[in-house]
Amino acid sequence: MLDNKGFRKFAHQVVDWMADYYENIEKYPVKSGVKPGEIFSLLPDAPPVQGEPMENILKDFEEIIIPGITHWQSPDFFAYFPANSSYPSVLAEMLTATLGAQCMVWETSPAAAELEEKMMQWLMHLTGLPTSFDGVIQDTASTATLTSLLTAREQYTRFAINDKGFSGTEKFRIYASEETHSSIEKAVKIAGFGKENLVKCAVKEDFSMDTDFLKEAIRYDLSRGYRPLAVVATLGTTSTTAIDPLKEITKIAKEYGLWVHVDAALAGSALILPEYRFMIEGIEEVDTFVFNAHKWLFTNFDCSAYFVKNKEALIRTFEILPEYLKTRTHGRVNDYRDWGIQLGRRFRALKLWFVLRNFGKQKMQEIIREHIRLAQMIRQNVEESPDFELLAPVPLNTVCFRYHPSGTDEETLNKINQQLLDKLNRSGKIYFTHTRLHGKFTIRFMIGQTYTREEHVRKAWSEITRTARETG
Ligand SMILES: *Cc1c(COP(=O)(O)O)cnc(C)c1O
Repeated sequence: MLDNKGFRKFAHQVVDWMADYYENIEKYPVKSGVKPGEIFSLLPDAPPVQGEPMENILKDFEEIIIPGITHWQSPDFFAYFPANSSYPSVLAEMLTATLGAQCMVWETSPAAAELEEKMMQWLMHLTGLPTSFDGVIQDTASTATLTSLLTAREQYTRFAINDKGFSGTEKFRIYASEETHSSIEKAVKIAGFGKENLVKCAVKEDFSMDTDFLKEAIRYDLSRGYRPLAVVATLGTTSTTAIDPLKEITKIAKEYGLWVHVDAALAGSALILPEYRFMIEGIEEVDTFVFNAHKWLFTNFDCSAYFVKNKEALIRTFEILPEYLKTRTHGRVNDYRDWGIQLGRRFRALKLWFVLRNFGKQKMQEIIREHIRLAQMIRQNVEESPDFELLAPVPLNTVCFRYHPSGTDEETLNKINQQLLDKLNRSGKIYFTHTRLHGKFTIRFMIGQTYTREEHVRKAWSEITRTARETG
């Protein structure tokens, strides 16, 4: 077992490995090519009885684990969504692990609670969210959305379901668009509303919510005795980064007394650019808002920033006070265990503090603006290439397209684009994922990695065009 002297030695060695990794990250195949079960079969069936030397463990880390890793921090990673890490974030994460503090209440680490409160204020400053909101760090947007819907449920029923459980007569309805993230449906299921009561509103041509549909759906539900409870607006949908019209949604919500939750998991980071503030027009009427600093704000997973208009409703929904958690400071400080689902909490504000200070607003704006510019460059390439087709507008950093040689039928197009994607990903040079838009197999080109630059994007585009010609 490591002692302090050994820890010092290997910590230096590990940090050297980390710096080498980032320096050489482009040499790794972006997407892991291992087969199911391959890693599992290389691991012994039982843990060792006697401790093993760190040398062996680190050797196996390189030889067994690394081949099974997909390199999300690679500047050639254009799949799914960005899951940014960065140098200052990693440094803070090492310190967090070293302190190993449980930050469930103020008293269990006052600095963690107070830094978290301040960091949430910094984020409100940076993003233009109303400074009258209160913020708390959640593990994921999924958890934040569930937290929001539970709070809506309790506020509407005057905390009756928390006390007595469902009576069986509630007929709540939750509204979101067809393009909403799967976490909304998960939250609706877990909160006890029933999946059938999630109404998925039609979208317009640009894949944003059709608010006429929303209004009609609410009216229809009312006429049948349902209780419209909440609407979830998405800023930056997962497939195409479509932006729901928040102002119109909040107007309708106000008219019918609905709770409004905003899921801006990815696109919230773009609010640090003044030119993207249009997305939160109507924000004063919003009850809760979430965005993931762990996506596009250079802070490694997990770090979801969750903001609420009425913190009393949130706390009343989640508060517990067993004898062993009673403190003398309760009520005068933020005890974040009452601001969400989990009791135990990591010290997540530290990495955000390191990142926001070390990057500074200007640098973060520069990088995000550059990602968006590069996405627009790819959009233009697609539009100007007769063999390629743009399949959705590009309001942010994600380009949805397909290879489309003329005279090819839909079925063949779906097939050759699947083949193109597989071939690109097998090359190890780049990594893309897909979606389906109106039944069309769509390749998504997402640009948002911390260290992605124009050269990476240009190289990716030429890889796409070259491979497409070989395929089709
Ligand atoms: C990524 C994403 C989520 C899920 O985020 P988690 O933090 O992984 O739960 C939800 N909604 C949108 C729009 C997303 O982009």
